[in-house]
Amino acid sequence: MAGAHLDSVDAGPGMNDNGSGSAALLEVALKMGSRPKLPNAVRFTWWGAEEAGLIGSRAYASALSFEQQLDIALYLNFDMVGSPNPGYFVYNDPGLPHGSKHVEKAFSDFYTARGLGPEGLNVRGASDYGSFTALGIPAGGIISGGGEVKTEAQAAKWGGTAGMEMDPCYHRACDHLGNINREALGRNVAAAAHVAAAAHVIASYAVTTEGVNGVPSRQERAALR
Ligand SMILES: [Zn+2]
Repeated sequence: MAGAHLDSVDAGPGMNDNGSGSAALLEVALKMGSRPKLPNAVRFTWWGAEEAGLIGSRAYASALSFEQQLDIALYLNFDMVGSPNPGYFVYNDPGLPHGSKHVEKAFSDFYTARGLGPEGLNVRGASDYGSFTALGIPAGGIISGGGEVKTEAQAAKWGGTAGMEMDPCYHRACDHLGNINREALGRNVAAAAHVAAAAHVIASYAVTTEGVNGVPSRQERAALR
């Protein structure tokens, strides 16, 4: 299962947070299409009222029966992937459900193979994946950064401007289309890599969620709860 939130804060239109993640996920869904048939179904979701406290995803998750919860091998979250001064972060909150480390590694390996030197970020459950990890469902995600200030070391490996926030318009009125670097979306490795990472990891799990250090099987997930 993969998801992104469609709403924004009252202060602004929220093109990076989270038009970017919503658009990236829609693009992955369109490119995957309905063929060829894959072993694992992929459920795509666009949430409402995330900014008000994960209202939409919580309502959805709490309506799942235990059997329906077990049907979800993992949940992938895409919240901000077009930051104007981007970073390459993979969720690494401590204490996420068993199997989440596999998700973290899948994203990290993608960026590492492209020389992008990903870093872990503790998102503290503050996006829709928190509604799933609360049920014990393994989860992970990527984020290009919000209010974090880019360090010299990060600018050296990722480009962009050191000493500046990754998204100076985070939760502000200026998070409009001008806050998304259009050149970057089209050509720059930065934004393209985030969309490609989403596609790669979603499609990989559609083929199999198992393997060495894989996401736990349905029986294991049931036993853990
Ligand atoms: Zn967001």
